[in-house]
Amino acid sequence: MEKLSIRDLELSGKRVFVRVDFNVPLEQGRVGDDTRIRETLPTLRLARERGARLVLASHLGRPKGKPDPKYSLRPVAGRLADLLGAAVEFAADCVGAEPEAKSRALGNGSVLLLENVRYHREEEANDEAFSRQLAALCDGLFVCDAFGSAHRAHASVVGITRFVRQSAAGLLMERELAYLGKTLSAPERPFVAVLGGAKVSDKIEVVENLMKIADAILIGGGMAYTFFKARGIAVGKSIVETDKIELASRVLSDARGRNFRLLLPVDHVVGAEFRADTQKRTIPIGEMPNGWMGLDIGPQTVQRFSAEIAGAKTIVWNGPMGVFEMPAFAHGTLEIAKAIAAATSRGATSIVGGGDSVAAVQQAGLADKISHLSTGGGASLEFLAGKKLPGVEALTDKAS
Ligand code: AMP
Repeated sequence: MEKLSIRDLELSGKRVFVRVDFNVPLEQGRVGDDTRIRETLPTLRLARERGARLVLASHLGRPKGKPDPKYSLRPVAGRLADLLGAAVEFAADCVGAEPEAKSRALGNGSVLLLENVRYHREEEANDEAFSRQLAALCDGLFVCDAFGSAHRAHASVVGITRFVRQSAAGLLMERELAYLGKTLSAPERPFVAVLGGAKVSDKIEVVENLMKIADAILIGGGMAYTFFKARGIAVGKSIVETDKIELASRVLSDARGRNFRLLLPVDHVVGAEFRADTQKRTIPIGEMPNGWMGLDIGPQTVQRFSAEIAGAKTIVWNGPMGVFEMPAFAHGTLEIAKAIAAATSRGATSIVGGGDSVAAVQQAGLADKISHLSTGGGASLEFLAGKKLPGVEALTDKAS
């Protein structure tokens, strides 16, 4: 069901509660990377142009349900004001008399940022009374632009929607849903998914769901070793999730039974230790010096995976192909980023999600060559796993 968009709302003169994702890194009380703030600017600009009175809420870090100055959003207000080119009022709490008074004092197009919603444990508990208090700060209009939090049934994402008249997706959220939704419901084929990263447990449901939708899945990174272990291949000290070996084995035989193209690496770069300057070797899968570990995919795998990617019309990528934080083991990940960028320039649609893969794409200077960089790692994984996101479900259906 299509959800209401901020573009469908009558905003003029109304206080609108906007849930954003300003979970930015703070360095000595200053905003570090401000990408997340910049990403909400289109939504905020549109709302201001239409005369909305904006009440912005976000979480930042994990303050454990009580005020902690380390996680204050106050520094964000300053940066947001610079980026918007407008004054941004700040309320030292997200509920109660102060934010209520400040929200009522807003003029058309003006902006109030609330303090971290996670200063209250009621936020993560999706508490009803707290949700009502949040809703009291607006005139029945809620906009969610925090895709990265949409998989969490928290008060400022889900609870509040029960106490407002209309709940709509912001532009950033809408874009995420458009890309991910279309990919899963009507992908242009061939549809190739590339999965990596350390943990199988995070992605096994994605593998299972995508086996029903995609034409091929390429698995690299640390998670491949649980699959190798399941096939009885020597993995040395490579990262393996022992409690997921059986599940991996089931997935492999399921893929074989259905003739599904589930590709694992054929060669890898192994290291003697988990260290950037460790001794390394490039060898076929199955060969593993005693006590060594696999830390990147090898050149033959890069070639095979790149060929699959080159033939794809839709590509989804989540998770690095190796320990890309160490330059010695970053090659595979960067090559896959290049292959995806090249396929995109030839007309494929590409979606890259998850902090590490997005970082790799940025590191390679290829960010503008990818169709869509997803802002929500966890949320996009749950979406790809076929789960419904509570923060999306809670939005008002279009034309209902
Ligand atoms: P995830 O959060 O599961 O997407 O995992 C991302 C992390 O996986 C990154 O920090 C990578 O360094 C790590 N990673 C990727 N490949 C390997 C590997 N072969 N061994 C250990 N860690 C890996």
